[in-house]
Amino acid sequence: LPRLTLTTLLPLTDVSATAPDPVRTSRPRRWLPRRVLVMKAAVDLPHTAEVLRRATAAGVEEIDVVGRVSAPKGASERETYAWAKSTLALVVAPPSARKPQPIPPSADWRIDLARGCPAHCQYCYLAGSLSGPPVTRVFANLDEVLAPIGELAGQGTVTSGTAARGHEGTTFELSCYTDPLGIEHVTGSLAAAVQRVGTGAYGDGVSLRFTTKFDDVEELAGLDHGGRTRARFSVNAAEVAARFDGGTAPMPGRLQALATLAAAGYPVGLTVAPVMPVEGWRDAYGQLLDDVRASLAPVAAADGHPVDLTVEVITHRFTPGSRDVLLSWYPKTRLEMDESARSQKRSKFGGVKYVYPRDTMRELRSWFETEVPARLPGTPLLYLT
Ligand code: SF4
Repeated sequence: LPRLTLTTLLPLTDVSATAPDPVRTSRPRRWLPRRVLVMKAAVDLPHTAEVLRRATAAGVEEIDVVGRVSAPKGASERETYAWAKSTLALVVAPPSARKPQPIPPSADWRIDLARGCPAHCQYCYLAGSLSGPPVTRVFANLDEVLAPIGELAGQGTVTSGTAARGHEGTTFELSCYTDPLGIEHVTGSLAAAVQRVGTGAYGDGVSLRFTTKFDDVEELAGLDHGGRTRARFSVNAAEVAARFDGGTAPMPGRLQALATLAAAGYPVGLTVAPVMPVEGWRDAYGQLLDDVRASLAPVAAADGHPVDLTVEVITHRFTPGSRDVLLSWYPKTRLEMDESARSQKRSKFGGVKYVYPRDTMRELRSWFETEVPARLPGTPLLYLT
């Protein structure tokens, strides 16, 4: 198949200029794919041009049009993993992927801008959920992907009517199958969604939410977001993040990005995940909450009112399928995935997941329910699961 000619797809506009970030003091983490593969069916879609414009500006040189996305023939499992994690594919989301699903307790509905993530977290919740090599597949038919936001406005399943979140209207979660900020500088999908919802393109009474382990928020901070996107940062105790997160922004960068978006008027949030009761966990998670308060204090002081912050807490869990995939990706991991040390939980579809035993869960719940209001006064703890 022919190498794509960039000039056929790239508008001659400069994307290098972005609004300065007054808070940032270090460089954000940016993933640079080795290659971008464009499925033939996606070549002529408008969002494809935008992705290629960004990818080229970021320095991607290998851009090919392909009939299918597959690893090089004869590649070993390690080579296939490395190839997939350095590949961004532009694909057309099929109708099944464009049908929003309820996604409690996070949001009313799920919208997928992409599937896959270039980072290397050893507990990754995508392992076992997505089949095949972990290529990041970005949906090029963005207009179709976002259209259900307007169609489902007013149809809440989870958040509507709850005291803490009723004002958000019908909520749409963007990060079920990807880290949308981690790929944003080469996709632009998140900015498009935030700006469209922020300017009322899908009516009033809808809001977006996403969670991320990245920190490149310069572009988002300058958008006309209308306060309709809650930007949550996935954070963890320093020791857990240092040991198990890979290819993501370091924790200080995430907290700095949290403060930047709060200062830009976004509602913000913490997704504390995956919580692990490691030795000294109370001190470690206490330090995390204190660090968040310190990061947001200047923003609150400048605004004259508390930051609109929420907290969600997700404890570590795994399924038999995710464990097998993770062990194949990270055979030397020290992540505890011992079924005999866990309790089984059955999903409504009959699947099994392994969670912490009831006593451990009770201790974690009790600690977070006490310490979140104590260390972050006025901040709702939306759920602990
Ligand atoms: Fe998985 Fe999230 Fe880590 Fe990406 S950032 S590898 S989606 S856990």
